[in-house]
Amino acid sequence: MAVLLDPGSKPTCIYPFDEIIYTPSTCRTCKTLKPARSKHCSVCNRCVQLFDHHCVWLNNDVGHYTYRYFLTFLLSKVWTFTYGAILCWKALSTTPRMFWHTVTKSNSANKISGALFLLCILLLPLVAIFLAEHVRYIYLGVTTNETAKWDYIRYLFENRLLYRVDTENGCRYVIANETGYTTLGGTQVDVCEPKLVHSWNDLQNIYDKGFNSNLVERIFPKAL
Ligand SMILES: [Zn+2]
Ligand SMILES: [Zn+2]
Repeated sequence: MAVLLDPGSKPTCIYPFDEIIYTPSTCRTCKTLKPARSKHCSVCNRCVQLFDHHCVWLNNDVGHYTYRYFLTFLLSKVWTFTYGAILCWKALSTTPRMFWHTVTKSNSANKISGALFLLCILLLPLVAIFLAEHVRYIYLGVTTNETAKWDYIRYLFENRLLYRVDTENGCRYVIANETGYTTLGGTQVDVCEPKLVHSWNDLQNIYDKGFNSNLVERIFPKAL
């Protein structure tokens, strides 16, 4: 499912633009409106909703419809490697001290069990860390793609370059430069009474609705 399903390329706006990491824009390749939280994948040549990343192992995008299968895939790998390691260890019926001796100085069945045991033990932390990272992203209400965008926002406010402008229709954010202010998209603008953004407390991630809601949203994606 993670490999074969369409990750969600219909350009329906399901998330509002937060005017921080997403502002309304058009995809230069598809020539269609880029919905908030979407990104054009240059490998697959399409815009993908809730784009997380292009996965080379799955040869598909992890996005709106495929994220839940990607998570299940990681979870199944953690389970498979744990189960495999236990099974091979039991098949070897050895002790940690005698492990190398049992594997190298005995029959081919033990050699295979030993090799599989090592494979499981080496790959388990990799997939477990990867899964933990994604659980953290769900907790934070971000995608892998958005972490880079938030890193840029952090760079801006740490260098006292990001300002908030309150308007009748809510607030928007601008970047200070030598000649004045530009929008986050790079357009020069005139603003009145910009307020310096000091920390995360002055910003809000509108896509973060709490861990449980974020998880439910990922597991039961809305129809596009
Ligand atoms: Zn792709
Ligand atoms: Zn596109």
